[in-house]
Amino acid sequence: MSHADVVIVGSGVMGAATAYWLTRLQPGLRVTLVESDTRYEKASSSLSASSIRQQFTCPVNIRLSQFGITFLREAEPYLGLPDHPVALGLQEPGYLYLAQPEQAAELQNAHHIQKQAGADVALLGPKALRQRYPWLNVDDVALGSLGLSGEGWFDGPALHQAFLKKAMAQGVQRLHDRVVGLDHANSQVSAVRLASGGSLGCAQVVNAAGAWAGEVAAMVGVQLPIEAARRTVFVLSCPEPLPHCPLLIDPSGWWLRPEGRFLISGAEPLQTAPGLPLEPDWAEWSDAQWASLAHRIPALSALRVERAWAGYYEMNTFDHNAVIGPHPDWRNLYFINGFSGHGMQHAPGAGLALAEWMLHGESKTIAVDDLGFERLVQNRPLRELQVIG
Ligand SMILES: Cc1cc2nc3c(=O)[nH]c(=O)nc-3n(C[C@H](O)[C@H](O)[C@H](O)COP(=O)(O)OP(=O)(O)OC[C@H]3O[C@@H](n4cnc5c(N)ncnc54)[C@H](O)[C@@H]3O)c2cc1C
Repeated sequence: MSHADVVIVGSGVMGAATAYWLTRLQPGLRVTLVESDTRYEKASSSLSASSIRQQFTCPVNIRLSQFGITFLREAEPYLGLPDHPVALGLQEPGYLYLAQPEQAAELQNAHHIQKQAGADVALLGPKALRQRYPWLNVDDVALGSLGLSGEGWFDGPALHQAFLKKAMAQGVQRLHDRVVGLDHANSQVSAVRLASGGSLGCAQVVNAAGAWAGEVAAMVGVQLPIEAARRTVFVLSCPEPLPHCPLLIDPSGWWLRPEGRFLISGAEPLQTAPGLPLEPDWAEWSDAQWASLAHRIPALSALRVERAWAGYYEMNTFDHNAVIGPHPDWRNLYFINGFSGHGMQHAPGAGLALAEWMLHGESKTIAVDDLGFERLVQNRPLRELQVIG
Protein backbone atom coordinates (compact mmCIF):
# COMPACT_ATOMS: atom_id res chain seq x y z
CA MET A 1 0.00 0.00 0.00
CA SER A 2 1.39 3.42 -0.91
CA HIS A 3 1.35 6.17 1.69
CA ALA A 4 0.99 9.96 1.91
CA ASP A 5 1.23 12.35 4.82
CA VAL A 6 -2.07 13.93 3.77
CA VAL A 7 -4.77 12.59 1.45
CA ILE A 8 -7.31 15.13 0.23
CA VAL A 9 -10.58 13.73 -1.13
CA GLY A 10 -11.63 16.02 -3.99
CA SER A 11 -9.52 18.53 -5.90
CA GLY A 12 -11.97 21.35 -6.61
CA VAL A 13 -10.89 24.78 -5.45
CA MET A 14 -11.03 23.75 -1.76
CA GLY A 15 -8.88 20.65 -2.14
CA ALA A 16 -6.47 22.46 -4.46
CA ALA A 17 -6.15 25.51 -2.15
CA THR A 18 -5.57 23.27 0.89
CA ALA A 19 -2.89 21.27 -0.97
CA TYR A 20 -1.25 24.51 -2.11
CA TRP A 21 -1.06 26.02 1.38
CA LEU A 22 0.06 22.77 3.04
CA THR A 23 3.03 22.43 0.69
CA ARG A 24 3.82 26.15 0.73
CA LEU A 25 3.91 26.18 4.53
CA GLN A 26 5.71 22.84 4.80
CA PRO A 27 7.73 22.06 1.67
CA GLY A 28 8.33 18.34 1.27
CA LEU A 29 5.04 17.29 2.88
CA ARG A 30 3.66 14.37 0.85
CA VAL A 31 0.15 15.45 -0.18
CA THR A 32 -2.08 13.46 -2.57
CA LEU A 33 -5.29 14.78 -4.07
CA VAL A 34 -7.71 12.00 -5.05
CA GLU A 35 -10.14 13.18 -7.73
CA SER A 36 -12.80 11.13 -9.51
CA ASP A 37 -13.59 13.74 -12.19
CA THR A 38 -10.35 15.28 -13.46
CA ARG A 39 -12.33 17.20 -16.11
CA TYR A 40 -14.30 18.83 -13.26
CA GLU A 41 -17.49 18.59 -15.30
CA LYS A 42 -19.77 18.52 -12.27
CA ALA A 43 -17.52 20.36 -9.82
CA SER A 44 -18.99 23.54 -8.38
CA SER A 45 -15.61 25.15 -9.03
CA SER A 46 -16.27 24.90 -12.80
CA LEU A 47 -19.87 26.08 -12.64
CA SER A 48 -19.57 29.00 -10.26
CA ALA A 49 -20.58 32.64 -10.71
CA SER A 50 -17.22 33.44 -9.04
CA SER A 51 -18.09 36.70 -7.35
CA ILE A 52 -16.73 38.18 -4.14
CA ARG A 53 -18.44 40.34 -1.56
CA GLN A 54 -17.74 41.77 1.87
CA GLN A 55 -21.45 42.01 2.63
CA PHE A 56 -22.04 39.10 5.01
CA THR A 57 -23.57 39.13 8.47
CA CYS A 58 -21.15 36.66 10.10
CA PRO A 59 -17.87 38.44 10.89
CA VAL A 60 -15.91 35.25 10.10
CA ASN A 61 -17.24 35.38 6.53
CA ILE A 62 -16.17 39.01 6.24
CA ARG A 63 -12.69 38.08 7.50
CA LEU A 64 -12.45 35.34 4.86
CA SER A 65 -13.56 37.78 2.14
CA GLN A 66 -11.04 40.40 3.30
CA PHE A 67 -8.29 37.82 2.97
CA GLY A 68 -9.81 36.66 -0.34
CA ILE A 69 -9.79 40.06 -2.01
CA THR A 70 -6.22 40.81 -0.94
CA PHE A 71 -5.13 37.43 -2.27
CA LEU A 72 -6.97 37.90 -5.59
CA ARG A 73 -5.43 41.35 -6.08
CA GLU A 74 -1.93 40.06 -5.39
CA ALA A 75 -2.18 36.49 -6.70
CA GLU A 76 0.93 36.51 -8.90
CA PRO A 77 3.60 36.10 -6.18
CA TYR A 78 1.52 33.32 -4.60
CA LEU A 79 0.39 31.38 -7.66
CA GLY A 80 2.53 32.51 -10.60
CA LEU A 81 4.71 29.94 -12.40
CA PRO A 82 7.48 30.79 -14.89
CA ASP A 83 5.44 29.53 -17.87
CA HIS A 84 2.04 30.33 -16.41
CA PRO A 85 1.30 33.88 -15.26
CA VAL A 86 -1.88 34.21 -13.23
CA ALA A 87 -4.75 36.02 -14.97
CA LEU A 88 -7.79 36.14 -12.72
CA GLY A 89 -9.67 39.01 -14.41
CA LEU A 90 -10.67 40.58 -11.09
CA GLN A 91 -13.14 43.46 -11.37
CA GLU A 92 -14.50 45.40 -8.41
CA PRO A 93 -17.72 47.24 -9.28
CA GLY A 94 -19.30 46.19 -5.97
CA TYR A 95 -22.43 44.36 -4.87
CA LEU A 96 -25.60 46.39 -4.55
CA TYR A 97 -28.31 45.02 -2.25
CA LEU A 98 -31.63 46.79 -2.74
CA ALA A 99 -34.25 46.97 0.01
CA GLN A 100 -37.90 47.92 -0.08
CA PRO A 101 -39.18 49.84 2.97
CA GLU A 102 -40.01 46.68 4.95
CA GLN A 103 -36.47 45.28 4.35
CA ALA A 104 -34.59 48.49 5.16
CA ALA A 105 -34.06 47.75 8.88
CA GLU A 106 -32.49 44.38 8.02
CA LEU A 107 -30.12 46.06 5.58
CA GLN A 108 -29.17 48.70 8.15
CA ASN A 109 -28.47 45.98 10.71
CA ALA A 110 -26.22 44.14 8.23
CA HIS A 111 -24.49 47.43 7.40
CA HIS A 112 -23.70 48.01 11.08
CA ILE A 113 -22.10 44.54 11.40
CA GLN A 114 -20.10 45.06 8.19
CA LYS A 115 -18.78 48.49 9.20
CA GLN A 116 -17.69 47.09 12.58
CA ALA A 117 -15.79 44.36 10.74
CA GLY A 118 -14.02 46.97 8.58
CA ALA A 119 -15.91 46.47 5.30
CA ASP A 120 -15.92 49.39 2.84
CA VAL A 121 -19.69 49.65 2.38
CA ALA A 122 -22.16 52.53 2.09
CA LEU A 123 -25.91 52.91 2.43
CA LEU A 124 -27.45 54.92 -0.40
CA GLY A 125 -30.93 56.39 -0.70
CA PRO A 126 -32.95 56.45 -3.95
CA LYS A 127 -31.57 59.84 -5.05
CA ALA A 128 -27.94 58.73 -4.76
CA LEU A 129 -28.78 55.43 -6.46
CA ARG A 130 -30.40 57.24 -9.40
CA GLN A 131 -27.35 59.46 -9.77
CA ARG A 132 -24.95 56.53 -9.79
CA TYR A 133 -27.07 54.17 -11.92
CA PRO A 134 -29.44 56.17 -14.18
CA TRP A 135 -30.55 52.91 -15.86
CA LEU A 136 -31.88 51.50 -12.56
CA ASN A 137 -35.51 51.92 -11.44
CA VAL A 138 -35.56 52.59 -7.68
CA ASP A 139 -39.10 53.97 -7.39
CA ASP A 140 -40.05 51.19 -4.93
CA VAL A 141 -36.65 51.08 -3.19
CA ALA A 142 -35.94 52.62 0.22
CA LEU A 143 -32.26 51.83 0.52
CA GLY A 144 -29.31 50.27 -1.25
CA SER A 145 -26.16 48.86 0.29
CA LEU A 146 -23.13 49.14 -1.97
CA GLY A 147 -19.64 47.73 -1.56
CA LEU A 148 -17.31 50.63 -2.42
CA SER A 149 -14.27 48.38 -2.75
CA GLY A 150 -13.39 44.72 -2.33
CA GLU A 151 -16.45 43.40 -4.15
CA GLY A 152 -16.94 42.17 -7.70
CA TRP A 153 -16.08 39.08 -9.70
CA PHE A 154 -13.21 37.12 -11.17
CA ASP A 155 -12.36 34.02 -13.20
CA GLY A 156 -13.06 31.25 -10.66
CA PRO A 157 -11.99 28.30 -12.84
CA ALA A 158 -8.70 30.15 -13.49
CA LEU A 159 -8.19 30.48 -9.72
CA HIS A 160 -8.93 26.77 -9.31
CA GLN A 161 -6.45 25.80 -12.05
CA ALA A 162 -3.80 28.17 -10.66
CA PHE A 163 -4.06 26.57 -7.19
CA LEU A 164 -3.85 23.09 -8.77
CA LYS A 165 -0.87 23.87 -11.00
CA LYS A 166 1.06 25.62 -8.26
CA ALA A 167 0.30 22.85 -5.75
CA MET A 168 1.55 20.25 -8.23
CA ALA A 169 4.66 22.36 -8.91
CA GLN A 170 5.24 22.27 -5.14
CA GLY A 171 5.18 18.44 -5.25
CA VAL A 172 1.50 17.59 -4.69
CA GLN A 173 0.35 14.41 -6.49
CA ARG A 174 -3.08 14.11 -8.08
CA LEU A 175 -4.56 10.65 -8.43
CA HIS A 176 -7.44 10.02 -10.82
CA ASP A 177 -9.62 7.70 -8.71
CA ARG A 178 -12.67 7.69 -6.48
CA VAL A 179 -12.50 7.30 -2.70
CA VAL A 180 -15.04 4.60 -1.79
CA GLY A 181 -14.20 3.97 1.87
CA LEU A 182 -12.08 5.05 4.82
CA ASP A 183 -10.16 2.44 6.84
CA HIS A 184 -10.01 3.30 10.51
CA ALA A 185 -9.26 2.13 14.02
CA ASN A 186 -9.61 3.94 17.37
CA SER A 187 -11.26 6.97 15.75
CA GLN A 188 -8.30 7.52 13.43
CA VAL A 189 -8.45 7.14 9.67
CA SER A 190 -5.52 5.02 8.50
CA ALA A 191 -6.16 4.79 4.74
CA VAL A 192 -8.55 5.73 1.96
CA ARG A 193 -9.91 2.90 -0.14
CA LEU A 194 -10.02 3.51 -3.89
CA ALA A 195 -12.53 2.44 -6.53
CA SER A 196 -9.63 1.04 -8.59
CA GLY A 197 -9.08 -1.53 -5.86
CA GLY A 198 -6.05 -0.25 -3.98
CA SER A 199 -5.80 1.89 -0.91
CA LEU A 200 -3.66 4.78 0.15
CA GLY A 201 -2.34 5.03 3.71
CA CYS A 202 -2.23 8.46 5.33
CA ALA A 203 -1.61 10.34 8.57
CA GLN A 204 -4.32 12.96 7.90
CA VAL A 205 -7.37 13.05 5.63
CA VAL A 206 -9.23 16.08 4.30
CA ASN A 207 -12.81 15.91 3.11
CA ALA A 208 -12.90 18.42 0.21
CA ALA A 209 -15.59 16.58 -1.73
CA GLY A 210 -17.85 19.59 -2.35
CA ALA A 211 -21.50 18.70 -2.84
CA TRP A 212 -20.58 15.03 -2.21
CA ALA A 213 -18.92 15.71 1.17
CA GLY A 214 -21.79 14.09 3.08
CA GLU A 215 -21.05 10.76 1.35
CA VAL A 216 -17.38 10.92 2.37
CA ALA A 217 -18.24 11.77 6.01
CA ALA A 218 -20.71 8.88 6.08
CA MET A 219 -17.83 6.47 5.30
CA VAL A 220 -16.90 6.72 9.01
CA GLY A 221 -20.49 7.16 10.21
CA VAL A 222 -20.21 10.96 10.60
CA GLN A 223 -23.30 12.93 9.65
CA LEU A 224 -22.53 16.06 7.65
CA PRO A 225 -25.68 17.99 6.60
CA ILE A 226 -24.54 18.92 3.10
CA GLU A 227 -26.74 18.60 0.04
CA ALA A 228 -26.12 19.06 -3.68
CA ALA A 229 -28.46 22.04 -4.22
CA ARG A 230 -28.90 22.76 -7.91
CA ARG A 231 -28.79 26.37 -9.07
CA THR A 232 -29.46 27.62 -12.61
CA VAL A 233 -27.58 30.57 -14.10
CA PHE A 234 -29.04 32.34 -17.15
CA VAL A 235 -26.86 34.20 -19.65
CA LEU A 236 -28.64 37.28 -21.00
CA SER A 237 -27.87 39.93 -23.55
CA CYS A 238 -29.08 43.47 -23.11
CA PRO A 239 -29.35 45.85 -26.07
CA GLU A 240 -28.19 48.85 -24.01
CA PRO A 241 -25.05 49.24 -21.91
CA LEU A 242 -25.52 49.46 -18.12
CA PRO A 243 -22.56 51.65 -17.06
CA HIS A 244 -20.79 50.63 -13.83
CA CYS A 245 -23.28 47.80 -13.29
CA PRO A 246 -22.55 46.11 -9.94
CA LEU A 247 -23.69 42.65 -8.86
CA LEU A 248 -27.27 43.55 -8.13
CA ILE A 249 -29.45 41.75 -5.58
CA ASP A 250 -33.10 42.57 -6.08
CA PRO A 251 -35.52 42.72 -3.13
CA SER A 252 -37.49 39.91 -4.84
CA GLY A 253 -34.47 37.58 -4.56
CA TRP A 254 -32.83 37.45 -7.99
CA TRP A 255 -29.27 38.54 -8.68
CA LEU A 256 -27.60 39.79 -11.86
CA ARG A 257 -24.15 40.92 -12.92
CA PRO A 258 -22.18 41.66 -16.10
CA GLU A 259 -20.08 38.85 -17.60
CA GLY A 260 -18.04 40.17 -20.51
CA ARG A 261 -20.54 41.58 -23.01
CA PHE A 262 -23.39 39.61 -21.45
CA LEU A 263 -25.19 39.55 -18.12
CA ILE A 264 -25.65 36.51 -15.90
CA SER A 265 -28.54 36.09 -13.52
CA GLY A 266 -30.06 33.59 -11.12
CA ALA A 267 -32.86 33.31 -8.61
CA GLU A 268 -34.05 31.10 -5.81
CA PRO A 269 -34.78 27.68 -7.34
CA LEU A 270 -38.30 26.37 -7.89
CA GLN A 271 -37.24 22.79 -7.18
CA THR A 272 -35.18 22.14 -4.07
CA ALA A 273 -34.77 18.34 -3.88
CA PRO A 274 -31.08 17.43 -3.33
CA GLY A 275 -29.00 16.06 -6.20
CA LEU A 276 -31.25 17.09 -9.11
CA PRO A 277 -29.63 16.42 -12.51
CA LEU A 278 -27.22 19.14 -13.58
CA GLU A 279 -29.50 20.59 -16.24
CA PRO A 280 -30.80 24.15 -16.18
CA ASP A 281 -34.35 24.46 -14.88
CA TRP A 282 -35.98 26.46 -17.70
CA ALA A 283 -39.18 26.74 -15.65
CA GLU A 284 -37.33 29.40 -13.67
CA TRP A 285 -37.30 31.57 -16.77
CA SER A 286 -40.93 32.76 -16.66
CA ASP A 287 -42.76 35.86 -17.87
CA ALA A 288 -42.98 36.95 -14.24
CA GLN A 289 -39.20 36.71 -13.87
CA TRP A 290 -38.68 38.68 -17.07
CA ALA A 291 -41.17 41.31 -15.89
CA SER A 292 -39.36 41.59 -12.56
CA LEU A 293 -36.00 42.14 -14.30
CA ALA A 294 -37.53 44.69 -16.69
CA HIS A 295 -39.21 46.49 -13.78
CA ARG A 296 -35.84 47.00 -12.11
CA ILE A 297 -33.85 47.66 -15.30
CA PRO A 298 -36.22 48.92 -18.02
CA ALA A 299 -33.60 48.24 -20.74
CA LEU A 300 -34.06 44.54 -20.00
CA SER A 301 -37.55 44.54 -21.51
CA ALA A 302 -35.63 43.88 -24.75
CA LEU A 303 -33.26 41.25 -23.33
CA ARG A 304 -32.43 37.94 -24.99
CA VAL A 305 -31.70 34.70 -23.14
CA GLU A 306 -28.54 33.33 -24.73
CA ARG A 307 -28.10 30.10 -22.76
CA ALA A 308 -28.11 28.69 -19.23
CA TRP A 309 -26.10 26.31 -17.05
CA ALA A 310 -26.60 24.57 -13.73
CA GLY A 311 -24.24 23.76 -10.87
CA TYR A 312 -24.48 22.52 -7.32
CA TYR A 313 -24.21 24.73 -4.25
CA GLU A 314 -22.64 22.52 -1.56
CA MET A 315 -25.44 23.55 0.76
CA ASN A 316 -25.01 23.19 4.49
CA THR A 317 -28.65 22.72 5.48
CA PHE A 318 -27.78 23.21 9.17
CA ASP A 319 -26.87 26.93 8.94
CA HIS A 320 -25.71 27.86 5.41
CA ASN A 321 -22.12 28.23 6.53
CA ALA A 322 -18.86 26.42 5.93
CA VAL A 323 -17.40 23.72 8.14
CA ILE A 324 -13.62 24.11 8.49
CA GLY A 325 -11.35 22.07 10.76
CA PRO A 326 -11.07 18.66 12.43
CA HIS A 327 -13.91 16.49 13.65
CA PRO A 328 -14.08 16.61 17.47
CA ASP A 329 -13.82 12.79 17.73
CA TRP A 330 -12.02 11.85 14.51
CA ARG A 331 -8.93 13.93 15.17
CA ASN A 332 -7.10 13.22 11.90
CA LEU A 333 -10.17 13.79 9.72
CA TYR A 334 -10.53 17.40 8.53
CA PHE A 335 -13.36 19.21 6.77
CA ILE A 336 -13.50 22.10 4.31
CA ASN A 337 -17.09 21.88 3.19
CA GLY A 338 -20.52 23.42 2.98
CA PHE A 339 -19.76 26.92 1.70
CA SER A 340 -23.37 27.13 0.49
CA GLY A 341 -22.77 29.27 -2.60
CA HIS A 342 -19.92 31.51 -1.38
CA GLY A 343 -16.92 29.21 -1.48
CA MET A 344 -14.97 30.42 -4.49
CA GLN A 345 -14.16 33.76 -2.86
CA HIS A 346 -13.33 32.07 0.46
CA ALA A 347 -11.09 29.33 -0.95
CA PRO A 348 -7.77 31.25 -0.53
CA GLY A 349 -8.48 31.98 3.15
CA ALA A 350 -10.23 28.71 3.97
CA GLY A 351 -7.38 26.67 2.48
CA LEU A 352 -4.83 28.66 4.50
CA ALA A 353 -6.85 28.36 7.70
CA LEU A 354 -7.22 24.60 7.33
CA ALA A 355 -3.55 24.09 6.42
CA GLU A 356 -2.46 26.03 9.52
CA TRP A 357 -4.90 24.04 11.65
CA MET A 358 -3.47 20.76 10.33
CA LEU A 359 0.17 21.80 10.70
CA HIS A 360 0.08 23.93 13.86
CA GLY A 361 -3.12 22.90 15.67
CA GLU A 362 -4.76 26.29 15.13
CA SER A 363 -5.58 28.76 12.40
CA LYS A 364 -3.22 31.68 13.03
CA THR A 365 -3.78 34.10 10.14
CA ILE A 366 -7.60 34.16 10.01
CA ALA A 367 -9.74 33.30 13.04
CA VAL A 368 -12.16 30.68 11.71
CA ASP A 369 -13.02 28.83 14.94
CA ASP A 370 -16.67 29.92 14.56
CA LEU A 371 -16.83 27.59 11.54
CA GLY A 372 -15.58 24.52 13.44
CA PHE A 373 -17.37 21.15 13.42
CA GLU A 374 -18.23 21.45 17.14
CA ARG A 375 -21.18 23.69 16.39
CA LEU A 376 -22.88 20.85 14.48
CA VAL A 377 -22.38 18.40 17.33
CA GLN A 378 -23.55 20.93 19.93
CA ASN A 379 -26.48 22.11 17.79
CA ARG A 380 -25.28 25.75 17.76
CA PRO A 381 -26.09 27.06 14.26
CA LEU A 382 -24.11 30.08 13.04
CA ARG A 383 -26.66 31.62 10.74
CA GLU A 384 -25.52 33.70 7.77
CA LEU A 385 -28.40 36.03 6.92
CA GLN A 386 -27.08 37.31 3.61
CA VAL A 387 -27.33 34.14 1.50
CA ILE A 388 -27.99 34.77 -2.19
CA GLY A 389 -30.44 32.64 -4.18
C1 LIG B 1 -24.17 28.33 -9.85
C2 LIG B 1 -23.15 28.61 -8.78
C3 LIG B 1 -22.82 29.93 -8.48
C4 LIG B 1 -21.87 30.20 -7.50
N1 LIG B 1 -21.51 31.49 -7.28
C5 LIG B 1 -20.52 31.77 -6.41
C6 LIG B 1 -20.07 33.09 -6.25
O1 LIG B 1 -20.55 34.01 -6.90
N2 LIG B 1 -19.08 33.33 -5.36
C7 LIG B 1 -18.52 32.33 -4.62
O2 LIG B 1 -17.62 32.60 -3.82
N3 LIG B 1 -18.92 31.05 -4.75
C8 LIG B 1 -19.91 30.74 -5.62
N4 LIG B 1 -20.33 29.47 -5.78
C9 LIG B 1 -19.83 28.44 -4.86
C10 LIG B 1 -18.44 27.93 -5.20
O3 LIG B 1 -18.33 27.67 -6.58
C11 LIG B 1 -18.21 26.65 -4.37
O4 LIG B 1 -18.37 26.98 -3.00
C12 LIG B 1 -16.82 26.07 -4.56
O5 LIG B 1 -16.51 25.92 -5.93
C13 LIG B 1 -16.76 24.71 -3.86
O6 LIG B 1 -15.53 24.10 -4.16
P1 LIG B 1 -15.25 22.61 -3.69
O7 LIG B 1 -13.83 22.34 -4.00
O8 LIG B 1 -15.70 22.43 -2.27
O9 LIG B 1 -16.24 21.69 -4.54
P2 LIG B 1 -16.08 21.14 -6.05
O10 LIG B 1 -15.55 22.18 -6.94
O11 LIG B 1 -17.39 20.52 -6.40
O12 LIG B 1 -14.99 20.02 -5.91
C14 LIG B 1 -15.24 18.82 -5.22
C15 LIG B 1 -14.54 17.71 -5.99
O13 LIG B 1 -14.58 16.52 -5.21
C16 LIG B 1 -14.64 15.42 -6.10
N5 LIG B 1 -15.14 14.25 -5.36
C17 LIG B 1 -16.31 14.15 -4.70
N6 LIG B 1 -16.40 12.95 -4.09
C18 LIG B 1 -15.24 12.28 -4.37
C19 LIG B 1 -14.75 10.99 -4.02
N7 LIG B 1 -15.45 10.16 -3.25
N8 LIG B 1 -13.53 10.62 -4.49
C20 LIG B 1 -12.80 11.46 -5.27
N9 LIG B 1 -13.23 12.70 -5.63
C21 LIG B 1 -14.43 13.11 -5.18
C22 LIG B 1 -15.62 15.90 -7.17
O14 LIG B 1 -15.44 15.17 -8.37
C23 LIG B 1 -15.23 17.39 -7.31
O15 LIG B 1 -14.33 17.62 -8.37
C24 LIG B 1 -21.27 29.14 -6.77
C25 LIG B 1 -21.60 27.82 -7.07
C26 LIG B 1 -22.52 27.55 -8.08
C27 LIG B 1 -22.83 26.12 -8.41
